[in-house]
Amino acid sequence: MNAPFPNSDTAGGNMTSADEPLNLLIAAPRGFCAGVDRAIEIVEKSLERYGAPVYVRHEIVHNKYVVEGLKAKGAIFVEELDEVPADAPVVFSAHGVPKSVPAEAERRNMIYLDATCPLVSKVHRQAERQIEKNRHIIFVGHEGHPEVIGTMGQVAPGQMTLVETIEDVDKLPFDSDDELAYLTQTTLSVDDTAEVIAALEWRFPNISGPKAEDICYATSNRQAAVKDLAPDCDLVLVIGAPNSSNSLRLVEVSERLGTPAKLIQRADEIEPGWLEGVKTLGLTAGASAPEVLVREVVDALGKLRPIRERTITAAEEKMVFKLPRQLTE
Ligand code: SF4
Repeated sequence: MNAPFPNSDTAGGNMTSADEPLNLLIAAPRGFCAGVDRAIEIVEKSLERYGAPVYVRHEIVHNKYVVEGLKAKGAIFVEELDEVPADAPVVFSAHGVPKSVPAEAERRNMIYLDATCPLVSKVHRQAERQIEKNRHIIFVGHEGHPEVIGTMGQVAPGQMTLVETIEDVDKLPFDSDDELAYLTQTTLSVDDTAEVIAALEWRFPNISGPKAEDICYATSNRQAAVKDLAPDCDLVLVIGAPNSSNSLRLVEVSERLGTPAKLIQRADEIEPGWLEGVKTLGLTAGASAPEVLVREVVDALGKLRPIRERTITAAEEKMVFKLPRQLTE
């Protein structure tokens, strides 16, 4: 718990006037992670090196503002490789791709740059190692998310089974002595995943798991920061896209602590009525949302109410990932 602002309570429901100060608790860390920074830089540096257009397979990161900015610089976003001319460079998104995608790019002699986050690539390598040990992999993740499609595409069909919930674990058609391993998506809820893993370990006592957690440092830190501030807030705003897994998890973290939360992409989505009765507001941003959008929201809030701003820091982040060699040589 953080010390409350002077003369504030978090009871909510009281009427607030437009001149009543709004206590604003801003989460740290928030916004861009090292994997997103790297992915965006890969597209920008590719544009410098190869000239426009540079194709990007899938949204490079799940943020419309970022995607539109890169489009304006000459990036063309497509969903599949067959939409890219063979002589144009193509970047694969931070979420990772099935093995068949770089294989196809090689077959067509394309210039491709892999912006897969190194922490997602690490999970891909773990999957390969488990298959080499003849283990079937149970992958904890959200069906249809590009990272899940990419990770499941590292192994042959039938070698990996996706589970999302404890109920899915109960339905798995394996025996307790089968050779099994589990891996997880990087952007899951830390708490939900711990429960799913506990259910797996209970049903399959010999199941092998990663030495260090697959949920990435950025996801864990952003969730920890919301856990720190949400109990002191009447409402939490999360800046992020509806298809951004880690942003959706931040909304859930706050709601589970009993504090309503809203996901917004831009400041113009804020409805003044939301601040009715709100004395303390929390603010954070998913790993694919740039800081400029946080400042835009703070400015918009400042036009509705006078703001008293404070940062709540859950962790310091210093992670930086290297660019692919093609862009540094
Ligand atoms: S959220 Fe985590 S896994 Fe995803 S790009 Fe950022 S650091 Fe990498």
